[in-house]
Amino acid sequence: MRILVTGTAGFIGSALAERLLARGDEVYGIDNHNDYYDPTLKEARLARFAEHPNYTHLRADLADADAVNRAFGEFRPQRVVNLAAQAGVRYSLKNPQAYVQSNLVGFVNILEACRHGKVEHLVYASSSSVYGANRKMPFAIEDAVDHPVSLYAASKKANELMAHTYSHLYDLPTTGLRFFTVYGPWGRPDMSPMLFADRISRGKPIDVFNYGNHSRDFTYIDDIVEGVIRTLDHIALPDAAYDALQPSPGTSSAPYRVYNIGNDQPVQLLRFIELMEQNLGRTVEKRLLPMQPGDVPDTWADVSALRRDVGYSPNTPIEDGVARFVAWYREYFQRGE
Ligand code: NAD
Repeated sequence: MRILVTGTAGFIGSALAERLLARGDEVYGIDNHNDYYDPTLKEARLARFAEHPNYTHLRADLADADAVNRAFGEFRPQRVVNLAAQAGVRYSLKNPQAYVQSNLVGFVNILEACRHGKVEHLVYASSSSVYGANRKMPFAIEDAVDHPVSLYAASKKANELMAHTYSHLYDLPTTGLRFFTVYGPWGRPDMSPMLFADRISRGKPIDVFNYGNHSRDFTYIDDIVEGVIRTLDHIALPDAAYDALQPSPGTSSAPYRVYNIGNDQPVQLLRFIELMEQNLGRTVEKRLLPMQPGDVPDTWADVSALRRDVGYSPNTPIEDGVARFVAWYREYFQRGE
């Protein structure tokens, strides 16, 4: 299949592109290589598959509609996975415009290109952060998600609403995936696993917010990639829930779905740090601090809907995932030390 993936220099996008190429798909990647975090890590991720004969790369910004349209015209993708976005909760408190450009303007450009290009299925990244102030555990897809506590979360919820419109107004099958704290090799330097690994390796204290009472549904990258591919391959039945609303004439019941994609096994942050310390062979001081604005105390994904519909079944124990992450971290950052 011809699959266009945005964000292929990113953590999840690079892992996905590599797997799609390995199974024989043609992949067209778009990424603007922005400097939100170290761009040399992005180059190194891309180097894993950039020379593959079935891979084409375009360095462009999703907010540039002409560039997006040219890419779609040239490649004529059958399916699209939109992962490019301005990520990060804390960064959104200080840099709101970046979220509007990439996550809203960029996303509408992707929707338009999918609509005009008659794409068979658009899968796009949402986030567990849409659950915001929700305290009901585990987070279920039926839970209300109308209290986002950061602009990042609001932009992801907006993506779900925008996709809903395009599914029903323009007959575009769309599926949103709410990712839950993804970790593993080639991970993100702004996220806790990499930040912890850096502090522990250098023997520096770690700031642990919410006095260490946080828990996160850490999900291993390989399980995520498997789930994204299963989702992409499966085009759901028409949207019966939309039909039941007696929609206005001329609209379609094209499949519109949103799923959680997590691990369904939350881990206390202090336990996660302990595993990192064991693998790195060093313990450090933990400074217990209050919760930060925009943060949520716990995340926990109910993944039963994705399990039922596409057979998603995350199976990497946290102990194995952390060991593989630390092995990669050592190889990548500590070569020659
Ligand atoms: P990432 O930052 O590593 O990857 C995103 C990539 O998109 C980057 O390489 C960046 O250069 C690119 N990009 C950003 N804005 C762009 C734009 N306007 N035009 C073109 N390229 C642009 O992030 P990731 O962890 O791989 O996340 C992928 C997606 O999943 C994102 O949408 C993110 O919000 C979402 N998500 C990730 C997690 C997680 O735990 N990693 C959790 C929830 C949601």
